[in-house]
Amino acid sequence: MNTTIDLLVTNIGQLCTVPAHAGGPQRGHRLGDLGLLENAAVAVHEGRVLAVGSRDDLHSRYTAAQTLDAGGRLVTPGLVDPHTHVVWAGDRADEFEQRIAGATYQQIMAAGGGINRTVQATRAADLDTLIAQSRARLDRMLAHGSTTIECKTGYGLSTPAEIKMLDAIARLSAEHPADLALTFLGAHAIPPEYSHNPDAYVAVIIDEMLPAVAAWQAEHWFGPLFCDVFCEVGAFDLDQTRRILQAAQGYGMALKVHVDEFEPLGGARLAADLGAVSADHIVVTPQDEIEVIGHSQTVAVSLPPTPFGLAHTAYTPVRRFLDAGAALAIATDCNPGTGWNESMQFVMALATRYLRLTPAEALAAATINAAYAIGWGDRVGSLEPGKLADLVIWQVPRYPHLSYRFGSNLAQTVIKRGRVVYDAGGSLGTV
Ligand SMILES: [Zn+2]
Repeated sequence: MNTTIDLLVTNIGQLCTVPAHAGGPQRGHRLGDLGLLENAAVAVHEGRVLAVGSRDDLHSRYTAAQTLDAGGRLVTPGLVDPHTHVVWAGDRADEFEQRIAGATYQQIMAAGGGINRTVQATRAADLDTLIAQSRARLDRMLAHGSTTIECKTGYGLSTPAEIKMLDAIARLSAEHPADLALTFLGAHAIPPEYSHNPDAYVAVIIDEMLPAVAAWQAEHWFGPLFCDVFCEVGAFDLDQTRRILQAAQGYGMALKVHVDEFEPLGGARLAADLGAVSADHIVVTPQDEIEVIGHSQTVAVSLPPTPFGLAHTAYTPVRRFLDAGAALAIATDCNPGTGWNESMQFVMALATRYLRLTPAEALAAATINAAYAIGWGDRVGSLEPGKLADLVIWQVPRYPHLSYRFGSNLAQTVIKRGRVVYDAGGSLGTV
């Protein structure tokens, strides 16, 4: 007797299930286990994966209300983007022109540009404008295959403006097909009004913002909420970072930390010591701290679009992190200054070339390990029974194409919680 289900995705030429390992991420050299199946199908019911297996087996077991024919193409889990600053107002295209003409990021900041310019635009924008501009970016992320997206605040840098950003993310989370993970990043930069007294701003974060964010969370947000700090010269030093993160832990917030983008300050070790869910950037991390991350539960998140966007040559030394046994994920870091990129496909293309990941490692770093980097490894990131039915039918036959090709969108159909939320349209075309 056949079981009736909502959806059967069938005629999959190559299916990457990208399994979790013992209920955790794919660590160290075990990264890149794609759990490949050929001539496969995925059974979906009530928004979740019911079964994966051979086409013939699933056809014999299930009768589907809707069938999607993948046309012999590649299917993977929906991509997970675990580090974005996707909510902001305005743009900084003129600064990009200055940078390309030879100005450094530091010179642009000194002239009033940089993060604080986006802070001005974001403070000035009303909630609807902020939501509309950010929604367009989330739409492009979804169209490129990202079905779960982390979103940070951090362009408000005052209590009301940070709360406005939280309101924007909550509205987008309710309206948008993608699932959004939420991170409070009041410690993104020292706002201009505190430039001569950074510790006074740290006190505002600890004494005013964190209680306000915790109160907001109790009323408006059901899921977990992360607190993040930009630990860097010119932003927050190690002691300030520790004080903010420990205060956030007191409110039950989980932790993320921007560390070692330009200067090593000890942030990676601090992230591991505090049990942070992730340590992000990790470009100039010293070897002893790489070992600490490798022995911790903290996921190492590399953001290759940022050095690419700045035309820098230093990238995360991911092979050393993998040698140390770390769980590695990759993300867009989508932001208006150093890297406005909405595509995890492009991140995989960069990761294979500049981080020297294999295409299989890059895909696992963009799916199951990225899910663990936001603490959602039990819900998304792999195609295993019980997980959310988030998957992408690609216009290509095999997974290496996702890294091999770049600059065009290879997603054909994006499915979120068992529902088609994007389709490229047209004929399925040639692969
Ligand atoms: Zn960032």
